[in-house]
Amino acid sequence: MNTRVIIAGGSVAGIRIAKALRQFGFTGRVQVFEAEHELPYDKPPLSKLAVDSDPHVPLITRSEAQDLGVELHLGRAVAAVRPGDDEIDLDDGAVVGYDHLVIATGARARPSPWTIDGVYVLRGIDDARTLRERLTTSRRLLIIGAGFIGSEVAALARANDVEVTIVDSAPIPMARVVGDELGRRFVDLHHAHGVTTKFGVAVQDMTRADGSIRTLLSDGSEICTDTVLVGIGASLNTEWLAAAGLADAEGVRCDEYGRALGHANISAIGDVSAWLRPSTGTHSRIEHWTNGIEQAAAVAARLAGKDDTPPHDPVAYVWSDQYDWRIHLFGTRPAGVDPEVTEEADPFRLVAVWKDGSGEVTGGMAVNWPRESVRLRKSIAARNASRASSTEAVTA
Ligand SMILES: Cc1cc2nc3c(=O)[nH]c(=O)nc-3n(C[C@H](O)[C@H](O)[C@H](O)COP(=O)(O)OP(=O)(O)OC[C@H]3O[C@@H](n4cnc5c(N)ncnc54)[C@H](O)[C@@H]3O)c2cc1C
Repeated sequence: MNTRVIIAGGSVAGIRIAKALRQFGFTGRVQVFEAEHELPYDKPPLSKLAVDSDPHVPLITRSEAQDLGVELHLGRAVAAVRPGDDEIDLDDGAVVGYDHLVIATGARARPSPWTIDGVYVLRGIDDARTLRERLTTSRRLLIIGAGFIGSEVAALARANDVEVTIVDSAPIPMARVVGDELGRRFVDLHHAHGVTTKFGVAVQDMTRADGSIRTLLSDGSEICTDTVLVGIGASLNTEWLAAAGLADAEGVRCDEYGRALGHANISAIGDVSAWLRPSTGTHSRIEHWTNGIEQAAAVAARLAGKDDTPPHDPVAYVWSDQYDWRIHLFGTRPAGVDPEVTEEADPFRLVAVWKDGSGEVTGGMAVNWPRESVRLRKSIAARNASRASSTEAVTA
């Protein structure tokens, strides 16, 4: 019986499961151990809210936690787990026992290879506050990495009249996610907002001289800025799980209900978890906000004794705000398949749909078009559901 649930990590996945446990009627003890001292906050606003606003959007308040009977232990990192003893070790030497452990320790920014004053990464609230402060005084920003976070910060900086250059080693950076045709639209979007792009080139060297940061690129050019943001991906916070053998390079592998493989009383949710997906038969990790929310609800229902909870098989989803584009991306893009694109000019909106060989929708992207977003999501969910049931039929 789960009378004492311990949640390691108090960000969106960890706080959402703490709340959901109570919503589903769980009456046992709920303790959250979070490494940071800050009251838990949401991450998407860190790269979106205007430069002069406070990016700290709380996920829970102290009084809410008290009302829900959720014990928040901030500034207390989990150092190790000993599954044989059902205990975790905290970094202050304390040992805490659990009936069920939920792993929600997410990821951190991949560190900058250049440790120079004025060079930053963006993952947590301290990073966001420092970067905002810089963007109010900085005139020239270099962003290394044109993924979601790099592109959102470019938009944020342009809104504050900062000159922006983005460098990425890929010739069409967003093509990794949306393919060449749509990827070129993202390049055009940056240009339309006055951003200089240097794509298909690598950073060779970075030095600080005369109050500026000089960045040498592989095409021989040099960029001189006062601030640099390095947005080159994330690394999982799994070191504390190593001794217990609970994680590999793919994160914490779980079954389709979120139970860590081989451990009935340990679950993993959010960025750190790789759940088995019934529709594909493979383990996959989805580093996006909605996934953490959905997995938290699924595991909370199970821990609260809702035994009829179906296996969780999400439609991968991420949104992003870049300049005047609100982007919604769903599902998967089959390799080598061109999307069917429909767009309207005034106001601009676009929907792109990817289909598999049998004409079923596997994924898509909608820009500024909420109705098409809903339609896309429903089509992909229906396809996943039919594939999951045919997998069951074959394996039964
Ligand atoms: C700037 C930014 C913008 C984003 N924008 C979007 C967006 O627009 N749309 C979208 O879908 N997704 C977005 N994301 C991704 C989304 O925020 C993540 O998918 C989500 O935060 C993952 O939540 P999580 O709780 O799994 O992990 P995390 O948010 O990584 O939180 C993990 C928590 O665990 C704590 N922790 C780590 N190790 C330990 C330990 N040993 N002991 C105790 N605590 C520990 C950390 O301090 C942290 O608070 C964005 C992310 C960032 C950084």
